[in-house]
Amino acid sequence: MPDNFCTPLDITQIEKNFADIDPALTTAEAMHEANRCLYCYDAPCTQACPTGINVPSFIKKIASGNLTGSARVIFDANPIGASCARVCPVDVLCEGACVEKTLLQKPIEIGRLQRYATDHAMADGRPLFEKGESNGRSVGVIGSGPAGLSCSTYLARLGYAVTVYERRAQPGGLDTYGMAEYKMPQNVSLAEAGQVERLGVEFRLSTAVGRDIEFDELRAAHDAIFIGVGLGSTRHLEIPGEELGGVIDALHFIEQIKTRDWRNVPLGKHVAVIGAGNTAIDAVTQAKRLGAESVKLIYRRTEKDAPAYDYEMELARKDGIEFYFRTTPVEILGDGRVTGLKCRTADGNEVVIACDQVIKAIGQQKMSSFFENVAGVAVDDKGRVVVNENMQTSDPAVFAGGDCANGGAEAVDASQMGKMAAIGIHFSLTGERVEFAGSAK
Ligand SMILES: Cc1cc2nc3c(=O)[nH]c(=O)nc-3n(C[C@H](O)[C@H](O)[C@H](O)COP(=O)(O)OP(=O)(O)OC[C@H]3O[C@@H](n4cnc5c(N)ncnc54)[C@H](O)[C@@H]3O)c2cc1C
Ligand code: SF4
Repeated sequence: MPDNFCTPLDITQIEKNFADIDPALTTAEAMHEANRCLYCYDAPCTQACPTGINVPSFIKKIASGNLTGSARVIFDANPIGASCARVCPVDVLCEGACVEKTLLQKPIEIGRLQRYATDHAMADGRPLFEKGESNGRSVGVIGSGPAGLSCSTYLARLGYAVTVYERRAQPGGLDTYGMAEYKMPQNVSLAEAGQVERLGVEFRLSTAVGRDIEFDELRAAHDAIFIGVGLGSTRHLEIPGEELGGVIDALHFIEQIKTRDWRNVPLGKHVAVIGAGNTAIDAVTQAKRLGAESVKLIYRRTEKDAPAYDYEMELARKDGIEFYFRTTPVEILGDGRVTGLKCRTADGNEVVIACDQVIKAIGQQKMSSFFENVAGVAVDDKGRVVVNENMQTSDPAVFAGGDCANGGAEAVDASQMGKMAAIGIHFSLTGERVEFAGSAK
């Protein structure tokens, strides 16, 4: 049987289901929204943004029609500001802190205004920043996700020759391969990587460090190294039946969706997704939007314990997802292919949930073996690379940031860590402490 045997929807309907969940603001809407901003002097939104974007400043520039200036403020603090405009959990970050919200009104739509300004700049195509005058030093960056792109940007602005080594065929990390398609298509993240390339950064794609090139070669070629390799593949369930056909990793499922080759995405008719984090929500909502007849989310703890944000749970609910809380999978049943998921309920009973596909979304493994065996730097007891306040690892010439160092957070956090690493690298090589927008947070 082909992996995708559930094709009840026609392509037009699927395209509709995957259309932008938060469409772009029109000029009139953007002006209206920008003029609602109170331009608070203490800007709680800026404080709540992990990259410290000067929100009132970029909104004021939109209100005065200076869209290029507005985008400059955004990208100055966050080189992936266009991606973040679409994927940031704004309800718990900038918009969650908006004074308008605390006045019991709708918060200013900061994310959508950020998208309005950055879309303008990306369409315009003119560079917003110049690469710095060459300082004769070079840095190797491993991984081109938010952390690697951000670190490369600031290093290039400081005059370093930067080479990015990326094992995948396209740059962008999870911004390119992991974001729910109705939040952000690949072209946004690829365009952002293009901006970094225009600063003179060299990208060596399809080049995995430790496989295609040795870490020691990088060490010999560069004055410092930044590692932003993110996290690994999805953790195993460690229950019988995991090897059956129809059991897949959520990241693999989501990555296939990003190709928009809808007919070849492996999809069942009755899908069970195990986990209740952001990845699980992305998997259930996208399985439903692709046309699965029923999609169930199975989680061993209570709804309150679920790591996903409330607004994500709400989205899944609106998409008609069925929830099974306090339900622990104990075995995947089937004969060659999945036919059901045996679970234990909170009262100790066993139930079988009929399904023909099981998607595992129980969190990603850490990259501890890369750090221990390839890079030779220390990791903590949770498998995260250990870094100090300069993002420096146990090896003084090696820096790290993003998911591999914080254990897995948001794209905007990885971007900030990349910025702090660039500052840390420059300090370590020159003794000079520089600042960039939002670095003094
Ligand atoms: C399914 C999913 C959905 C998400 N949705 C959101 C969201 O909506 N909003 C949000 O803010 N965050 C979201 N996140 C989290 C966000 O994607 C991450 O926090 C962010 O991408 C981390 O950036 P990073 O640069 O540390 O790592 P990554 O983005 O993982 O990038 C790491 C890069 O390193 C490369 N690499 C790894 N090993 C090597 C090697 N040996 N040699 C060369 N290259 C290597 C990888 O190919 C990859 O390109 C989501 C995560 C997942 C898994
Ligand atoms: S980067 Fe994210 S958190 Fe920061 S202002 Fe923009 S949307 Fe808000």
